[in-house]
Amino acid sequence: MSNWQELDYRYIMKTINRIPVTIVRGEGTRVWDDDGGEYLDFVAGIAVNSLGHCHPAVVAAIREQAGTLIQASGWYHTVPQVKLAQLLVENSCLDKVFFCNSGAEANEGAIKLARRYGHLKLNGAQEIIATQDSFHGRTLVTTAATGQEKMRKPYTPLPAGFRHVPFGDAEALKAATTADICAVLVEPVQGEGGVNVPDDSYFSTIRAWCSEKGLLLILDEVQTGIGRLGELFGYQIWGIEPDIMTLAKGLGGGVPIGAVLAKEHADVFALGEHGSTFGGNPLTTAAAHAVIKYILDNDVVANARRMGEHLVAELGKLKRKHSRITDIRGRGLLIAIGLDSDASMEIVTACLERGLLVNPVKPNAVRFMPPLTVTEDEIDEALAIVDEALATLTTE
Ligand code: PLP
Repeated sequence: MSNWQELDYRYIMKTINRIPVTIVRGEGTRVWDDDGGEYLDFVAGIAVNSLGHCHPAVVAAIREQAGTLIQASGWYHTVPQVKLAQLLVENSCLDKVFFCNSGAEANEGAIKLARRYGHLKLNGAQEIIATQDSFHGRTLVTTAATGQEKMRKPYTPLPAGFRHVPFGDAEALKAATTADICAVLVEPVQGEGGVNVPDDSYFSTIRAWCSEKGLLLILDEVQTGIGRLGELFGYQIWGIEPDIMTLAKGLGGGVPIGAVLAKEHADVFALGEHGSTFGGNPLTTAAAHAVIKYILDNDVVANARRMGEHLVAELGKLKRKHSRITDIRGRGLLIAIGLDSDASMEIVTACLERGLLVNPVKPNAVRFMPPLTVTEDEIDEALAIVDEALATLTTE
């Protein structure tokens, strides 16, 4: 164990089982450890480094903004925030933006917005239907919204107001709808839940249901947004429009930023009803603006779509070769392989030893989420390592 890892265990709360590598530098799809070891990074900060590590456009924007204005607070107009909001609104179906600092905070804001909407327009309806196996964040309210018992249990009593139905089951969602419901909260593809993709008709059915009942459809695009699924936003795959959408992760390309976007009719916060000291700060919004502008100007989303297809096709070849792979699931560059046993950590370790970072999203599933700028050669190099790692598996 390196000295840094020893110090980490001495001084930092152990809330996650860290992979034993100390990353000190990154460039593009590669990172280096404190021993000079090089790795292909197919985790990308958990679907965050959309343009890879230290992309020149993002680095330049951060450097420029750091020397100009870092923080001013929500009391003042600032230029990078306005420019980013304009870019997001002009390239999405939403009309207004509120900036914050993380995915959990974005969902927290979306839930508050839905409750204000319920008070004002739905006779006080306050409850939200969410889905089993979902993940919406680590604050108390987003933990309550999350449909995974192991995350909820340590923190009871949780805030009330959430009902969970199976993901992908529109009929269950309809059956759970009562006069107390103000909104439906769902991910386009469940990321932390194991990379779960619903049937093609799911989103059009629940969109129509929400419209019929006057409920808000909130899409948590914290993981799927900003090109990750091979469209700029996940909702575009299903041909629907949410009333509220949350973003974070890939939006800042590595800097901590979140956003709540709403259609005009759902933009019901009154003055003083929501806020954030750091949210929309000039440094993070300048970085995010550089990320989105680069993605749009260079059609990085098309690359994500093409590379996602290549990744799935090559994983298909590995599946034919290794019977341990049970399925390949996901969209764009959010892809997982299912395994016939709880061997994901073994694969992650074997890949690490061979110079590849991948993520054990479930005990029996390995997730791949490289930068949206990943190349075909990098995918081939990564999968040659996965091929070797699968061959080393010992567990039944
Ligand atoms: N929502 C989704 C769909 C996520 O995948 C995550 C994080 O993995 C979150 C919310 C929480 O985001 P953060 O960790 O930035 O609070």
